[in-house]
Amino acid sequence: MYDIAIVGAGINGASVAYEFASVNKKVVIFDMQGVASGGSGAAGAFISPKFSKAGELKELIHDAFVYSMEFYEKNFPKLLTKAQLLHIAKDEIDSEILKYYKVHTTLELKTPSDEVLNSLTPHAKAQEHISLDAGVVNAQAMCKAMCENARFVNEKIESLEYDDGMWVINETYSAKNVVLATGAYEQIIKEPYIKLRGVWGHRIDIKTTTENPYSVHQNVSISPSSDGVLAIGATHNVHYHPQTATESYDLNEGRAELLEKASRTINLEDVEVIKDYTGLRSGSFDYMPIVGSLVMSGETIMASGNRLRVKKPNVEEFSYYPNLYMINGNGGYGFVLAPYLAKMLKEYILSGKKISDRVSPARFFARWVKKR
Ligand SMILES: Cc1cc2nc3c(=O)[nH]c(=O)nc-3n(C[C@H](O)[C@H](O)[C@H](O)COP(=O)(O)OP(=O)(O)OC[C@H]3O[C@@H](n4cnc5c(N)ncnc54)[C@H](O)[C@@H]3O)c2cc1C
Repeated sequence: MYDIAIVGAGINGASVAYEFASVNKKVVIFDMQGVASGGSGAAGAFISPKFSKAGELKELIHDAFVYSMEFYEKNFPKLLTKAQLLHIAKDEIDSEILKYYKVHTTLELKTPSDEVLNSLTPHAKAQEHISLDAGVVNAQAMCKAMCENARFVNEKIESLEYDDGMWVINETYSAKNVVLATGAYEQIIKEPYIKLRGVWGHRIDIKTTTENPYSVHQNVSISPSSDGVLAIGATHNVHYHPQTATESYDLNEGRAELLEKASRTINLEDVEVIKDYTGLRSGSFDYMPIVGSLVMSGETIMASGNRLRVKKPNVEEFSYYPNLYMINGNGGYGFVLAPYLAKMLKEYILSGKKISDRVSPARFFARWVKKR
């Protein structure tokens, strides 16, 4: 029997596998397509803070950014490229946000070099910008490295049964704890209050004679170049979904859009697209990630009835699936949030350290039940 079984080997599942294997737990991780085959395989995997004025999500991502930069540098230094980030405002609203951010952030701000500023298009150069130390990770290699001390099984998980104090998975494997890290794909445990939205993204690796030493973000994210190759990525298409689309995604159109948007920011010369990556990233409906125990909606309603209709129902009174957890909904910050959330989940499972109600799945149950 495994101490923990994880379904989904994207950055969320891989981070959980790493946390548990690091404390000598017996870990199995399943993926129906392979490690980093979903949104994580497509990601540009920039490690950056969220530039906004205020709010819980900004604060959470700030803490995760500081934590994850240190985490990747300490544990996987070869898979992290530390690079200065130059974030350029897209429009007036963005510009106001950056001005506010600069005055209020505790992060150390940098002045971009003249060389980098001169490589921008005149329009981009005229916009408000901010620069600080950040990084980019090698998305696929990072997920693989994090899964190294776990057993990986290439299998789609279709059944989960709780029997006699353990979870039986696909009628074959058994584990004390199960973590669902299935991204924007169909959920295995169908609870009506859990809703995720998948946003389609496309990243290209290009060969170019343009040297780009920084990560440059404006309409798309452009990575620093290495050996004449750089990555351009964006999650931009909210309408396309691979499981419901009637036509396949047009790669050429996507490439053209990414290149056109990148060329509004930097002058790219002698471009040759050498690789495409596409995938869905999953976000929650309040944009905060989802991590923690899953509420059993039917049982909770039966047991608590009208007590659930108060303004702030007591989450301690809800009925939860035994030893079943979820980590998901990281939006465009999967590589920033995952190590931080996985540590949180490990401390909750192994030591009972409470997870904030603002990120636990129970918040969605409380809202859903009131609307019924
Ligand atoms: C183009 C693009 C660019 C991005 N850029 C960045 C960036 O710069 N920085 C950043 O931090 N984030 C970025 N993101 C977001 C980031 O990629 C996601 O937040 C992150 O990948 C989510 O990871 P995950 O593990 O939750 O999901 P996924 O990576 O989608 O993993 C879920 C896995 O679960 C598996 N699975 C699902 N159901 C089952 C089942 N029943 N049985 C077995 N396996 C199953 C799937 O095969 C999949 O591999 C980007 C995303 C995209 C698409």
